[in-house]
Amino acid sequence: MIFRTPFILPLLYPKLIWRIPTSEDIIYLTFDDGPVPGPTDFVLEQLDKFNAKATFFCIGNNVIQNESIFRKIVEQGHAVGNHTQNHKKGWGTPNDEYLNDVIACQKTMKATTLFRPPYGRIRRSQIKQLDNYKIVMWDVLSYDYSNAMNRDRCLQGVIKATRKGSIVVFHDSYKAEKNMTYALPRFLDHFTQNGYKFESLSELEENA
Ligand SMILES: [Zn+2]
Repeated sequence: MIFRTPFILPLLYPKLIWRIPTSEDIIYLTFDDGPVPGPTDFVLEQLDKFNAKATFFCIGNNVIQNESIFRKIVEQGHAVGNHTQNHKKGWGTPNDEYLNDVIACQKTMKATTLFRPPYGRIRRSQIKQLDNYKIVMWDVLSYDYSNAMNRDRCLQGVIKATRKGSIVVFHDSYKAEKNMTYALPRFLDHFTQNGYKFESLSELEENA
């Protein structure tokens, strides 16, 4: 499995955000597919413990069902982004249906200008329709959701692939829980001990 995004993708899709170029020791953690009771609470606890800020790309329907957890994310100073209302895959979904699902999520979450396409699958014509959003992809994928991944490989892979300015993807979901609850605290501990800080993408949002 390739943890680091192949360099060709940012060249093919330069308008999308893959990494934040910086000379500082900063990592941008992102969590997709929440909020849900359990995994999201775990993530918030760990971030608090390490004084880390992160960005949560939420599914609108999960926000509706777990509004108090969503509020907790915002109150604790993390950034939030749109991940569609129903976790739509851009490829194979008609553009108007896709856009409507993004708008529905936007209405649920209120203000955010950050968007991440579910599965990383989005067509160029859909990117064009979403030009009022900052579309955030990633530099490092943890594969925490994968049945083929074990927790130690997940941790080692994500540590090796992460560099200054990396945007790293974990999932606050039930599917990822087994690997994520193992890898995340150890990842935070490893990079904290090496002098890294963890920041949210809120600045990106402000500059939209
Ligand atoms: Zn997702």
